[in-house]
Amino acid sequence: MKHFSQYIDGAFDAGSARFDSVNPATGEVWASMPAASAGDVDRAVRAAHRAFVDSDWSRMTASARGRLLWKLADLVEQQAPRLAELETADTGKIIRETRAQIGYVAAYYRYYAGIADKLQGAHLPVDKPDLEVFLRREPLGVVAAIVPWNSQLFLSAVKIGPALAAGCCIVLKASEEGPAPLLEFARLVHEAGFPPGVVNILTGFGADCGQALTAHPLVARIAFTGGPETARHIVRNSAANLAVTSLELGGKSPVLVFDDVDVDSVCNAIVAGIFAASGQSCVAGSRLLVQHGVRARLLARLADRARAIRIGDPADPATEMGPLATRRQREHIETVVAASLDAGARLVTGGVTPAGAGNYYPPTILDCASASTPCVAQELFGPVLSVLGFATEDEALRLANDSEFGLAAGVFTRDLARGHRLVRGIRAGIVWVNTYRAVSPIVPFGGYGLSGLGREGGFEAVLEYTRTKSVWINTSDAPVPDPFVMR
Ligand code: NDP
Repeated sequence: MKHFSQYIDGAFDAGSARFDSVNPATGEVWASMPAASAGDVDRAVRAAHRAFVDSDWSRMTASARGRLLWKLADLVEQQAPRLAELETADTGKIIRETRAQIGYVAAYYRYYAGIADKLQGAHLPVDKPDLEVFLRREPLGVVAAIVPWNSQLFLSAVKIGPALAAGCCIVLKASEEGPAPLLEFARLVHEAGFPPGVVNILTGFGADCGQALTAHPLVARIAFTGGPETARHIVRNSAANLAVTSLELGGKSPVLVFDDVDVDSVCNAIVAGIFAASGQSCVAGSRLLVQHGVRARLLARLADRARAIRIGDPADPATEMGPLATRRQREHIETVVAASLDAGARLVTGGVTPAGAGNYYPPTILDCASASTPCVAQELFGPVLSVLGFATEDEALRLANDSEFGLAAGVFTRDLARGHRLVRGIRAGIVWVNTYRAVSPIVPFGGYGLSGLGREGGFEAVLEYTRTKSVWINTSDAPVPDPFVMR
């Protein structure tokens, strides 16, 4: 059994309470984790605040901050195999995905390392001859970051990277499901040489640790990724500190497929969009909208492809799909799939939970007659593709926008003009045309509607960890005139 520690004020700490972590592929307890208390949260936030206000960090130049981030990226790359193994053991995400994703984690830290000394203020040419006005761009302060159980290293890199580039300090709460890679990552933060308190990593339960963190009076900025219900709690909580808040929430992303496509190529994109990470991805392309002319052919091809996916031990590099992260998650999927079948959906493939250990669930395709079928509207966060047919481009657009979410969308067509029309019409933060799931540190990421507020990734994200200070300087040697003497 492995024992992990939390990281507070530059020291590793076993915590007063602990909980067991279960390997989702075997159902067996494999590690013990600290459960941060409200007291641990308070210690961490105070340490971050001290580091922000008066420390080597608060006096460090932006270029030196960038060098530290660059070193962290080096360490992530060096330790990638170990981090990938831990993420696979603790979340069930397959090893080929965790290895690939850690490459991205390092790339995000490098990107933000480069931005640290490119954040600039401005000179403002006001219409007052004796006054010089400039804007300083300053870091917001202590950041409370909260991530969910899928892709914790990646989802924290898109918060820690820009926060540190801006000069903030951070207290990050990992999810209690699958926190091992983040607690190991804390060792790399330590080795890179960040001053104590600049980065603090806790793991614990939402109701106590998360709640205490987001309501803490010294927190100036909240960066949250998770579900809309928790987001509402957090927004209510942040009334206590009025922290600037960004929310990266769920999705029910549509993939629109027109009759003119190459079916094999589109089939690969759809499979990657919904079955990668066993569908536990905020940008999962979980609603397939397909034009009637190609519907039967595409569904037959998708069913063959889904049945051929190699499901098994996530630590085996040959495995193509692993288990779900939690038993609770699988039960939720089973309930919604059953309700969808009762509502008239046709089971194309999958839909039957296999016997045996682990939280496995097969790649599942449901052909639906109506947009009111439960699986079409709800985010499942699992390997379930809901299919609806359409006749015209207008109908496709209406169906695509018929969701309270608006994170991502895919459009597959050879008609360039139609592609552009749909890009304009779709209400989502990301639209991929003839591709799906591409990401880059340079490109902003975020949604419309219930998919959230704010953007992560790209230059814009760093600005969201800063505010401006307007500075007015009188350059005249003349005395300030008496305000009560009229001129
Ligand atoms: P949750 O919203 O349940 O949890 C997210 C995090 O919030 C966890 O760390 C959780 O802790 C914590 N939390 C729970 N309650 C509180 C509270 N009252 N105050 C503060 N923190 C709290 O989401 P899931 O873990 O179920 O993750 C799945 C969701 O995340 C999906 O909706 C998915 O789409 C979304 N997501 C969005 C992404 C994006 O970038 N847009 C990316 C990845 C996922 P604990 O684990 O202890 O409960």
